[in-house]
Amino acid sequence: MKRVPLFINGEFVQSSSQQVMPVINPANQQVLAEVPMATATEVDLAVASAKAAFETWRLVPVAERARVMMRYQALLKEHHDELGEILANDTGKTFEDAKGDVWRGIEVVEQAANVPSNMMGETVANVAGGIDTYSYIQPLGVVAGITPFNFPAMIPLWMYPLAIACGNTFVLKPSEQVPLTPIRLIELFIEAGAPKGVLNMVHGGAEQVDQLLTHPDVEAVSFVGSTRVGEYIYKTATAAGKRAQCMMGAKNHMVIMPDADRNSTLNALVGASVGAAGQRCMAISVAVFVGDSYEWVEELKERMSKARPGVWNDAGASYGPIISKAAHQRVLGLIEKGVEQGARCLLDGRNVQVEDYPDGNWVGPTLFADVTTDMAIYQEEIFGPVLCCMRVDTLDEAIGLINRCQVGNGTSIFTASGGAARHYQSEIKVGQVGINIPIPVPLPFFSFTGWRGSFRGDLHAYGKQAVRFYTETKTITAKWTHTEATTGTQPNMSIN
Ligand code: NAD
Repeated sequence: MKRVPLFINGEFVQSSSQQVMPVINPANQQVLAEVPMATATEVDLAVASAKAAFETWRLVPVAERARVMMRYQALLKEHHDELGEILANDTGKTFEDAKGDVWRGIEVVEQAANVPSNMMGETVANVAGGIDTYSYIQPLGVVAGITPFNFPAMIPLWMYPLAIACGNTFVLKPSEQVPLTPIRLIELFIEAGAPKGVLNMVHGGAEQVDQLLTHPDVEAVSFVGSTRVGEYIYKTATAAGKRAQCMMGAKNHMVIMPDADRNSTLNALVGASVGAAGQRCMAISVAVFVGDSYEWVEELKERMSKARPGVWNDAGASYGPIISKAAHQRVLGLIEKGVEQGARCLLDGRNVQVEDYPDGNWVGPTLFADVTTDMAIYQEEIFGPVLCCMRVDTLDEAIGLINRCQVGNGTSIFTASGGAARHYQSEIKVGQVGINIPIPVPLPFFSFTGWRGSFRGDLHAYGKQAVRFYTETKTITAKWTHTEATTGTQPNMSIN
């Protein structure tokens, strides 16, 4: 049985832990490897290695740190398909989707290679006679990153390349459900020239995370995952005096105006709701039809029924399985609850089968109409290929509904009216808004700006905000006296 290694001080090492979890292929339940829950000593060693490396890495010139990222993004591109295949096997994602996961991560590494211009401070000369004030952007020290199962390449790559390019060192704790992709990401990072100790990896769950959150040598914590865990991580890390940013769960609504282009809207809705089996924090899980557009639900059903799950290398499959048996049961349970609570189930994906893969965690595309806000399928993040349809009379009613939802990661509006779109972008309390774009994930020169219950912290993931998150500003006020100037003739400063 393959045992997933830890990565400490530049070496892949086997954990001495007796506590292991199986890594399971969700398409057939085959055990791919076992992942050890790192011991407390091993977590300490990883942090100590990062702490020691920080003392030299922080002094490496910023352009040299950026060059590591330049080489890294090139290597990741060279190994793009290989990484996609590892990731597809680990998660069950379709090959196209898996490659997309890798690609979105590469784009962040490209930005990390641009770090020098984002680390420029401010200067004012002569704030008082002979005195200048200027600021430097300096790294924090050891940063810990805790990542979810659903993007095993992209989300670690949201974190460590930028943190490390800023001069920090890093301890990654990837999802214990999908620990295989980060191994290859790390091998390529070493090949790109990253010195030992700059990046470390430990495996585990709540216990190992707790140790990182309270470790005296960890300065900051980046987390991506569910709202329940994120709230806990934010409270625990900040109570221990750490800087924390937590990107959390979602319930993303798409508003469909009656004047929207019917064909492109319905296509977008199908892809954004069932794509990746709905296991995206930016998936659309609620369609809010305004007025007559609700009549499109029948056609939506027709189109959605054509989507089907399948294994990663089945080119005709729209999406893969649900990540685990437990998550699968949870999704099936929520569908059942939707039916019990009176939503109209137009497509029921509970009994779908995939030929030759009877044990996969499959859920077919599932469509509910007449959903109300008191139903569990509305209130919970399902994280499955399930779309809830609602009807409202006006755009303002849609805005009110969405603004009352606890979370605010992403949303979109489909309309032919610039005025409606502008009103929506102005009034909606959601951090990432698509206009005729279903999944508006910002490219990495912006930041990933979820709001309200989808985020805790002050500075968001990637982009300039992440550079600020991973650095501290040092402001220097300096007085220098030039002897010649002070002894020579002084200019006449009096105002006549
Ligand atoms: P999760 O919260 O279960 O796990 C995330 C990480 O936290 C994992 O590394 C896990 O080991 C760790 N963890 C789990 N329980 C813990 C505990 N009690 N204490 C400390 N650490 C713990 O999330 P998941 O199921 O892996 O991922 C899916 C969730 O992530 C969804 O809610 C999704 O919306 C969210 N997500 C959010 C974003 C975003 O940017 N907002 C992006 C991707 C995923």
